[in-house]
This record gives sequence, structure tokens and C-alpha cells, in this order.
Amino acid sequence: MDEDDQERLAAFFNESVSHYGSIISVEVQRDLKAKFGITDAQISDLRLICHNSAQCPLFYRESDPNRRIEITSVVANSQKRFGHLQHPKVSRMLEQNLGITSQQSIDLINWMDRPDTRDLLLDPDMEPYYHIQLLWQYQKPVYRGPNKLPPLSDPNKYTLVLDLDETLVHCGTAQIPNADTYFSLCFNGAMFQVAVKYRPHLTEFLSSMSKLFEISVFTASQKVYADEVIKRLDPEGYITHRLYRTDCTNVCQNYIKDLSTLGRDLEHLIFIDNSPQAFTFHVNNSIPILSWYDDEDDHELLKMMHILRQLREYDDVRDYCKEAFDLESLVLTANGDDYC
Ligand SMILES: [Mg+2]
Repeated sequence: MDEDDQERLAAFFNESVSHYGSIISVEVQRDLKAKFGITDAQISDLRLICHNSAQCPLFYRESDPNRRIEITSVVANSQKRFGHLQHPKVSRMLEQNLGITSQQSIDLINWMDRPDTRDLLLDPDMEPYYHIQLLWQYQKPVYRGPNKLPPLSDPNKYTLVLDLDETLVHCGTAQIPNADTYFSLCFNGAMFQVAVKYRPHLTEFLSSMSKLFEISVFTASQKVYADEVIKRLDPEGYITHRLYRTDCTNVCQNYIKDLSTLGRDLEHLIFIDNSPQAFTFHVNNSIPILSWYDDEDDHELLKMMHILRQLREYDDVRDYCKEAFDLESLVLTANGDDYC
């Protein structure tokens, strides 16, 4: 990018921010790509810096947008050249090119490379997507019942639908080391002692996301079990609605979560589940999350918070999901020969 382009970019940036209020706007991103050939990765950096500048120790003092663009560009080039921000040479490159101190470069790298902004970890197993491909061959059952959720109480909120097991918690009837809670359950005439372990950052996730989203849990588990778990993991009541196995749609013995039965606008509805089959009818409303069992260093809910804040800025969440995850392509290209 030559100097003229840099100037035009700075002018465009200033104008966009004053017009749309935030660089995160879809229109601004589209123009940045079309007019300046800025890559998705560079937009992502720019968006992060602008959106969270007040939290970043270096950018807090950098009020000049031209300077922010310069910093973004040097960081993006360093990352591209050395592969990862934590490479020791990146710090030196930032100091030399930006005239910042060694401590400032370390702060900047740590801030940009914090766990919640890294990519989601995705399960490498593609078989569930092949499974969806097979399920797509069946006609979607038509639901004629009433909406499963009551009317949205806050029209400013989008709807967040969360799976329960291995998405928010891991439970078992055997001993679980350091379980967060236990309860006794009577099921089919037998008594079970259930141990529950919460996924790291769960309370922070629910508390923070409940300000932006109406939160429902949609589980394929039985109500008698799910109610006991939710009651314990969410004493504050951030989860306002619950849906159970009986609310799932059974297609060839698969419990599929049909989001169109909820009575919510699909443009504003996002669904997170560790089992991709549950997405079958609405892949573009869905985000897969790595199944969680016991990893104490798991950061996926923190990363998900970051994604959900970005996604909340979109008029139609499906546009974000198509671009970011493109699950439809995973389904269409899954090769059945790999799983015979
Ligand atoms: Mg699950």
C-alpha cells in the first residue's frame, strides 16, 4: 500500500467511524475489502483494535486513527511474516517500526493474542457432517404446534440457544474428580447419584451474554435430569427458557433441534452445540463447540463470548456464520467413503 492509499484509507476510516459509529459495521468491512484490498485478517485486527481500544494499554493513549492504522498494519505484517504474534522477533519488529518500548510491545502482543480472541478449536471428526448430509435426504417434518417459547420479552435482544451436555457441563454417574456439585436422581424406578462439572468460564459466559441475548438451553436429555443440572449451574437465572428431549424432532432416531419451532426470528437466533447433528435443519444459525469433559484450561466459552459480541452487530447472524464457519460446505463435501 503506497502513501496515497494510506491517506485515502485513513480518510475512509475516519468517515466510516463517524458515519456508522463503529468499524465493526458490515458496510465498513465490505468497503475496506472492495476499495483497499484489505484482507479479512487485517480487518479482524482493525476491528479488534477499534472496538476494544479502551481496554488495550497502548491504544488507550493512541487517539489518532492514522496511528492506529499504522500500528494495525505493522502488527498484521509481523504476524504474517513470523507466523505467530508470540514469535520473539515480532516484539523487536514492533519496537523498531512503531517506536514503542519493549514493555509496550509485550503488552500489545499479549492483548492481541489473548485466549478469547484466538480461533475456536473445532473437532477434526467430519463424520457428523456426513451424517447431516444423509439426514438432508429426508423431508423435514412440518411442525404445526404452538411456538415453544413465549414472546420475546426484550425486543433489543437476540436469542442464544445452548446445548447442555459437553457444551456447558459434563455429568456422570461415576465419580468425577473435583465435581462442582452432586444430586440424586430417580429415573425409571432406579436411584442415581449424578456428579456435575461446569465448563471453565461458564458463569462469566452466562452473566455477560445475558445482557445481549435471551438465553435458552435446548437439550436432548430428559427434563428430570436437565432441570436439576440447570438449577445448580444457573442460580441467578440467566437462562430464561428450557427445552428438552421431547422438544426435539426425531428423524431416523436422531434428536434434531428444530429452531423454527421456537417462534423466534431466525435472523437473530444463534445456536451452539457440541453435536453437529443437532444443527441439521439450521446449519447457518449454528456454531459448533468442542466437546468438553474435564480440561481445566479450556477457553472455548471465552472465545465464544468474543464471537457472540461480534455477531450481535450483524443484522442477520446467518451472514456471519456463513462467512466464519461455512458449515454448509462441510456438509456438502463430507465424503461417505471415509466412514464406511
Ligand atoms: Mg451435547
